This record gives sequence, C-alpha cells and structure tokens, in this order.
Amino acid sequence: MTMESAAATAAPAVWQPQAVREAYLFKRRWGPGGTYVSGGTLLRTRWEPGLERMPSHLIHLGAVRGIAGVKPMPDRLAVGSQTTLAACGSEPLLRESFPLLAEAARAIASPSVRQLATLGGNVMSAIGDALPALLLYDAELVWYGKDGHRAEPLADWLLRRSGPSADPHELLAYIHLPYGAARYSEDSPPAQQTGRRPKRFAAYRKVGRREAFTPSVVTVAVSGELAADGRYYGVRLAAGGGQTRPDRFGRLEQWLEGRPAETGTLAALHERLMEQFEPQPDAFADAAYRKRTAAHLITAVLWQAALPAGEEEAACS
Ligand SMILES: Cc1cc2nc3c(=O)[nH]c(=O)nc-3n(C[C@H](O)[C@H](O)[C@H](O)COP(=O)(O)OP(=O)(O)OC[C@H]3O[C@@H](n4cnc5c(N)ncnc54)[C@H](O)[C@@H]3O)c2cc1C
Repeated sequence: MTMESAAATAAPAVWQPQAVREAYLFKRRWGPGGTYVSGGTLLRTRWEPGLERMPSHLIHLGAVRGIAGVKPMPDRLAVGSQTTLAACGSEPLLRESFPLLAEAARAIASPSVRQLATLGGNVMSAIGDALPALLLYDAELVWYGKDGHRAEPLADWLLRRSGPSADPHELLAYIHLPYGAARYSEDSPPAQQTGRRPKRFAAYRKVGRREAFTPSVVTVAVSGELAADGRYYGVRLAAGGGQTRPDRFGRLEQWLEGRPAETGTLAALHERLMEQFEPQPDAFADAAYRKRTAAHLITAVLWQAALPAGEEEAACS
C-alpha cells in the first residue's frame, strides 16, 4: 500500500518503521491523523468504548531498533521506551538499582497486559502508575525530534504538558535513571559518631478499587534514610494515582530533613500531606479520600522505618 492510498481508505494504515527517525518522519507527515502505538493497551481503552476515534495512521514502534531494553551507562541506566512492563518488573539491573520502578511495573494491570504494555506508553499517559517511582528517581525523558535527541526532566515535562509544545510529534526514545538519585544523604551523621547503624527504607504502594489487576486510586513512592542519630535524611516523596498528575513533595522533603523519627514529626507530616496533595476526584473516590489515603500510606512507611529491627514485618502484616 502506498502512503497516499492508505490515507484514502477507512481502515487505519499501520506503519512499521525500523528506525527512530523514520517513525518521527511518519508522525510529522500524518500530523494529528497519525498516532504512535507502542503496546496499544492504553489506546485501545480509548478506542474500544468510542471515547476517541482511531486515527487513519497507526505508527507502530515495536520494530524500531535500539529503543527496547535496558542499557547501563557510566552514570545512569537508559531504559528504552519500548521496554515492556513485564521486562521492567523482572530486569535484574532495574530490580537492583531502581527497585521501586520494578515494583511499580509489576503492580500495573494483569500479566497479559504487561507483556504488551511499555514503560514509554505508561509515561506518555501522564498518569501512569510507574510515574511516582520515576519521579522519585529523578528520571529524565530523552525525546527524538527535529533536532535529534534531547533530554528533559520528567518533572518538567509533567508540568509543561498542558502548555504549547514546540514539537508535538516528538517520540519518547528513552527514560534515563541517574544512579546518584535516592542514595544516602551527605548530611546524615556517620554511624561511628553514634554507634548506631543507619537504615535505608524505600517503598512503593498502590491502592486500587480492588485487590489486584485494578486501576489505581492512589500510588505513592517513598525512600530515605533513618540515620544513626534517629533522624530522617534524604527523604523523597511522590504520589499520584487515578487521573491525578503525579508529583514530588519537594517542600515537604526539605521540611523533613534532619527531623526526629517521633510521633510529633509524623503527625505534622500527615497534616502537611493533607494540605499539599491535590488529587483529582472521579466517580469512584473523592479528593478527600485520596488525600487521606496518600497521607496514611506515606506516614506509615516512615513510621515502619523507625520501628526496632524485627518489628517492621509484624507492623506490615
Ligand atoms: C486491562 C487494563 C488495565 C490497566 N491497568 C493499568 C494500571 O493499573 N496502571 C496504569 O498505569 N495503567 C494501566 N493500564 C493502561 C496501560 O496498559 C498502561 O498505561 C501501559 O503502560 C501503556 O503502555 P502502551 O505501550 O500500551 O501504550 P500505548 O497504548 O501504545 O500508548 C499510550 C499513549 O502513549 C503514546 N505513545 C506510546 N509510545 C510513545 C512514544 N515512544 N513516544 C511518544 N508517544 C508514545 C501513544 O500515542 C498513546 O497516546 C491498563 C490498561 C488495560 C487495558
């Protein structure tokens, strides 16, 4: 089929570019009449119930070389946008250095959907359940556009999404995860000053409408350190879920720095989370429920981290 005859038929034409540039040129050529398709699992939830019309040209990215899988670089891990969620959940390099992302991937949809669904598609949805974990790790998006590749912090893209885009046809090629993010804080006093060992903690929590295979109501990602002096350092907090734009709580992270792990700190943290988290309500859960759930989940992770060794598991069960 030629490009011209494809445009004239009612059924969509499916294009299978082999290279990133070829895919991008297809998208530029078809404009709003063409769409990138990775796993197609999110797109089909829009097309099948008639929420959106299927465009005339589907640009399937599955055959594009070099943008699937995980590649270690000196200071970061490059995750190709075509990496499936199933692969993200089991990939040893991700599980070792970015465990919350692997855990988030394993909590999305069902095993069969995860075989098709990609990390790139999850990011591009702008509300995907992988996003709080990616924000926690200071992920960068690497786009391919008219000037070749360019990198942009994920947090910046989530903020600018509602504004005009310089190039609406850009293709997400990679997600970069810097190794330094979410490591020990330099402010934390070393163990030899106090004789106690610092404790790292990290958790991803998803609350859905039922136990498994469910869209999220709230997702949170938390990491940090309970230092030898009994204070929190380097805490990172992110939340999203449902239709909510995921976000980091930067001001709260600063406020927590060096605070003692005690009830007063956790009560004040809970109160501030209730003020600062701005979730979107939907037919299943209102904003107040989502706020409370996120505040409970995050505070519980910090509380569990402060329990004496051996008691954390009992508190979780
Ligand atoms: C039964 C079911 C359950 C689900 N449960 C969840 C869940 O629990 N949590 C969750 O987060 N999601 C869930 N989803 C939604 C979806 O499966 C995931 O968000 C998935 O990661 C989307 O990836 P995909 O590759 O299928 O994206 P696609 O559907 O192929 O694409 C999604 C969007 O991204 C664009 N796009 C894709 N790749 C690129 C690229 N490289 N560059 C630029 N644009 C691109 C597409 O044009 C489209 O707009 C569920 C879906 C189904 C069907």
